Amino acid sequence: MIDKATVARILDAADIVEVVSDFVSLRRRGVNYVGLCPFHNERTPSFSVSKTKGICHCFSCGKGGSPVNFIMEHEQLSYYEALKYLAKKYHIEVIEKELTDEEKAAQSEREGMLIVNEFATQSFENNLFNTQEGQDIGMSYFYERGFSENIIKKFRLGYSLDNSNDLFRTATAKGYNKKYLFDTGLCIDDKRGGGYDRFKGRVVFPVLNVAGKIIAFSARTLKNDQAKYVNSPESIIYTKGNELYGLYQAKHAIVKQNKCYLVEGNADVVSMHQAGFDNTIASLGTALTPNQVRMIHRFTENVTIMYDGDSAGIKAALKAINLLLPEGINVRVLLLPDGDDPDSFSKKHNATEFQEYIDNNEVDFIRFMKQMLLDNVKDDPIRRAAVVGDVVSSIALIPFEIQRSIYTKECSELFGVDEEILLREISKKIATNKQKEYEKKQKKTSEEENKVIEEVIPVPTIDVANKNNEVEQNSDSSFAKILYPYEKDIIRYVVKYGMIDFCAEDSSDKKMSLLSYVSEELALDDITFTHPIFEKIFSICKEYLNEYETDLAFFDDELTKEKEIALNEGINKIRRESILSIQEIEQKERELNTQIEYDALTKRNEFQIYYLEKKLSSHLDNEVRKTAFELIQEKHLLSKIHSRYGVLKNDVEKLDVLIPQALYNLKDALIQCHIKELQQALITTTDSQESLELLKSLQELYDIRKHLASYLGDRVVNPKN
Ligand code: ATP
Ligand code: MN
Repeated sequence: MIDKATVARILDAADIVEVVSDFVSLRRRGVNYVGLCPFHNERTPSFSVSKTKGICHCFSCGKGGSPVNFIMEHEQLSYYEALKYLAKKYHIEVIEKELTDEEKAAQSEREGMLIVNEFATQSFENNLFNTQEGQDIGMSYFYERGFSENIIKKFRLGYSLDNSNDLFRTATAKGYNKKYLFDTGLCIDDKRGGGYDRFKGRVVFPVLNVAGKIIAFSARTLKNDQAKYVNSPESIIYTKGNELYGLYQAKHAIVKQNKCYLVEGNADVVSMHQAGFDNTIASLGTALTPNQVRMIHRFTENVTIMYDGDSAGIKAALKAINLLLPEGINVRVLLLPDGDDPDSFSKKHNATEFQEYIDNNEVDFIRFMKQMLLDNVKDDPIRRAAVVGDVVSSIALIPFEIQRSIYTKECSELFGVDEEILLREISKKIATNKQKEYEKKQKKTSEEENKVIEEVIPVPTIDVANKNNEVEQNSDSSFAKILYPYEKDIIRYVVKYGMIDFCAEDSSDKKMSLLSYVSEELALDDITFTHPIFEKIFSICKEYLNEYETDLAFFDDELTKEKEIALNEGINKIRRESILSIQEIEQKERELNTQIEYDALTKRNEFQIYYLEKKLSSHLDNEVRKTAFELIQEKHLLSKIHSRYGVLKNDVEKLDVLIPQALYNLKDALIQCHIKELQQALITTTDSQESLELLKSLQELYDIRKHLASYLGDRVVNPKN
């Protein structure tokens, strides 16, 4: 468990842009950031991150949320695990009590396996650095290969002692569950209560996922008579085709340089990093997969393939090209001199020479294909045509027209084929390629559109007048259903705008928070929400009111300081521009002042508007968090629809009308429910006295409805109609 104050500190520290940036390459677009959604497969970015609101959201698949939500979803962690992750990222100390045996046992399978892998890694590292055998065998091998101590530590390389069950014994003695040792593949069940170590006598390359968790191992033999590598089997934490070796260590460099080198082997990755090319990764001993390509694309759209120059390497490179192109990635290829791989090449040349070699020899995929495929068949026109056909097929995979046209032009020049002809061929290819995909997409879009519209069109209110003859049996649950859209409407406004200063039209001089206004209005009529989750959220919001006062006061103090600094800096700057006349200076200073006040006001408004959203979307309670996030996101849905039909203005501008309207709608719906109840009673009663009283009550209710309606009058446009 983590105490409340620490949780608050973690949530305050977590910056959504920073948190998401560890996994997604973000670009600024207006006030937000956008990138490729990490939760589904896409080529054009629909994942949007709002720094001020502290949330992210995919407009295509709907996933996202606060920093905690994002980490929970992306890393498949529990709420507490996600908090711990964030605490670590922001260097916030979390003091936890020791786990009891029961809690240990209850830890999820996944978590258990990750813990065992971490233990094994530390044990392998310890063997390498602190045992005689590790030094003599493992370390001398690494040194022989030229790996420095720094790079060994960066990749957490280790050594597994040449002993059938060293890891098994130490791990079980420390209380680690055998099951996890077997599930991760670190050990193999001997069916007699014990186990063997899978990687014994090998140097070990841990495989880290993008978040730095150890999910598998690749272990290389130092002997000649064994399979070179033994790898962890696939498991619930490890799918080969979804991971990339070195990505965790390389991701920041990849984003920074907006480029990534793709090599074949673990050893190549390590050597490249050591040589200073720390934006290098490898697929895990298999051909590149579409999932790996998508993973790369989250960080960059520029990939240089650097495979061995032998025929297997060339074949693999050609395959990789056709996997990378459909993702919209700019593919380049670097062929190393015959017999060299990135590992050996980097040993023979210093970084400058290597960089020069790259600059001079890196070619785009078309040149590469020409070089490779035409080398032996220069004058055979039939072979030549076949090669052009292959290039055309590859160009047709590129999803963007501009890119395609550039490559078409290049292809035309390189092969001396008329551009028009190429274009025609490419269009034909695209047409057949895209047919299926297009149909699929079409179907999906229409489904999605229906969904959006359904959500926006409200459930109609029951019309009592027309329903006199068909009064159904009403249970509480059907009332709850009737009231749902109205309660939701109010809660949505509260969550989204609860803390902003609100001034209802009818009480023009009384200024209070929107939340307090709604709270008072509901209390006046003794109304509580019938849906427990709404009531819960509402009372949580009310609890935040006190905290908010303090937080706002603090925020205002900071803002005042910021304003002073900005003013001083601005004035100094103006004064330095000595050519100005006094009048001009005064004018400039007035403008500066206005600008600073305006900026401060904007910041303050944002603080108010997003205060509750942020708190709720990071709340400890799963349901609260989930519901709050849904409510927040609805604005996007609404504004999408609104802008499409050009109907409504921005919510905020009309809150003074919308809020009383929403309250009125709820009250009216409540009265209607009450009316239904009485009508039901009227039908079932046989007592004439009771009938009379029921009729009287009914009349009263009708009157209240009428009163309510005229009170608000028809100046109100009902947003629901
Ligand atoms: P080294 O330079 O130490 O021989 P490498 O990492 O360069 O190793 P490659 O021969 O280039 O290895 O092979 C590429 C990758 O394929 C390896 O890193 C490993 O993941 C995988 N691999 C190679 N040989 C085997 C094998 N026998 N069994 C399973 N995987 C293997
Ligand atoms: Mn190698």
